[in-house]
Order: sequence, then C-alpha cells, then structure tokens
Amino acid sequence: MKPLIVKLGGSVITDKRRPFTVRRATLTRLARELAAAKGPLVVVHGGGSFGHPVASKYRIAEGYKNKGQLMGLSLTHRAMERLNAHVIEALQKAGLPAIAVQPSACAVVSGGRIQSMELAPIKKLLGLGLVPVLYGDAVPDLRSGMSILSGDQIVAYLARELNAFRVILGVDVDGVYTANPKKDKRAKLVRKITPVDKELTSLDVAGVKDVTGGMRSKVKELISLAMHGVEAEIVNATKPGVIRKAIQGKRGLGTVIVRR
Ligand code: ADP
Repeated sequence: MKPLIVKLGGSVITDKRRPFTVRRATLTRLARELAAAKGPLVVVHGGGSFGHPVASKYRIAEGYKNKGQLMGLSLTHRAMERLNAHVIEALQKAGLPAIAVQPSACAVVSGGRIQSMELAPIKKLLGLGLVPVLYGDAVPDLRSGMSILSGDQIVAYLARELNAFRVILGVDVDGVYTANPKKDKRAKLVRKITPVDKELTSLDVAGVKDVTGGMRSKVKELISLAMHGVEAEIVNATKPGVIRKAIQGKRGLGTVIVRR
C-alpha cells in the first residue's frame, strides 16, 4: 500500500523566537490528528528553534572548513534528536507506534542533495504498521564534508522512492501566497501550483512572485515531486483540524501542488 507522508514544520511545533522551545499543546494536538491516518504513514519534522540556531552558529550549511564545526555537527544533530524525542513521545501518547529514523545515518548526501538512502528498514517498518519519523538533520556530505539536509528534501525524496500517494506539508501560514503573507498584507493565497517547465525557473508563472526562504525551497521540492506524479498540499497546521481533514482526504485546504 502506498504511504501518506506528512511533514510538521519546525515553525509549527517549536517557538522559533525561543531556542529549544517546543509548542507542547500544538504537538499533542497534531499527534492526535495524525492518528486519523488509516494506512501507512511516514512523519517528517523540521528543526525550528532546535536545529537552526546551532547549525547557523557553526555554519554547517557552508560545508567543512574547520575542526570546530565537528562539535557543531554533533550538537546540531543532538538538538534535532531532542526535538525528535518530543515528537516521538507525542505520537506514542496518541497511540501511534512511532520510531525514529536517523537521516544522517541512512542518507548518502553530496553537495546538499540526497544521492541515495537505505530504504529497506523504512519499508519494513511501514509494512509492519509502524510509523517512521524522520527529521531535518546535520549530515556528512560526500562533497562538502557536512551539510544540512532539510526535512522538505527528505519528504520529496521519500515520496518519490516510496511511491507515496500523497504528501501533506504543515506550515504556519494557510499555504503559498503571491508574497510572504507575514510581510505583505496584499499577499493572496495561491490555490494550485503546477509545474510549468522542467527547469523550475518559473515560479512566477504560477502567480507566485515572491516566495522566499523556507517556502521557496518547499515549493521547488514539491514541484519536482509533482512532475513525478505525486500530489502534495501545503496547509496550515497551526489551525486545529486542518491536518486531520487533509489526512482524511480533503483537498483544497491550502495550496495544492499537482502535475496538472
Ligand atoms: P517551516 O519551518 O515550518 O518548515 P518556514 O518557516 O521555513 O517553514 O517557511 C514558512 C514561512 O515561509 C512562512 O511562515 C512565511 O513567513 C514564509 N514565506 C515566504 N514567502 C512566502 C510565500 N510566498 N507564501 C507563503 N509563505 C511564505
């Protein structure tokens, strides 16, 4: 059976303004909503206020430059493990048999991109009825020494390789807007994005002129995924019930990204 892949954004499950702060109530609620999944489920989460501050302090994303970064890699990974432990516990309390899968130990990354990943254990876990939980991680990088592997890239990779039937990305806004809704009051929600060309250069054509930072890379990952025939939707996971409805099959709650 094809799995459903749900990502919980770091900005949803943590308070990005305060280092190492979990949004406990939100996480508990989301875990209950995830329990609505009927078939095989993979959960991926972001770093929020756990991974990001440490990773940027040690410039992990810039690659290996000095020995001091080794402790940085170690600390970034540990920070993500701590957040992951909160997520796993919340899922277990909601009745889901969740199990952590460490991306830095199973993904082969080069130049920031996943080249391959050991999928046999993940497939077996899914077959047994367990819920693999992956996360953005600081990883060894064959080319640059070390890099940051985003949860979004993991989602797109797994969705392709596991032939997911659908991907749901939970963020802290209603979807993809014509501009950053937190900065531009005139920003309008874009209901649907389709890949217009293989180069992925024309986010503009989709009517999205100003997608920055995290949202930009999400849209890029999901457009390339849509070209492989996997549909995705970016929804607001901070609003109670939205993730549950999306899991139950409702479409059009946020921004749908499909082949056509
Ligand atoms: P997460 O950490 O949850 O994975 P990010 O914080 O990296 O997510 O990305 C989501 C953020 O992207 C939103 O909170 C929003 O401020 C920002 N953003 C920038 N451009 C856009 C846009 N065009 N539409 C929607 N959000 C955008």
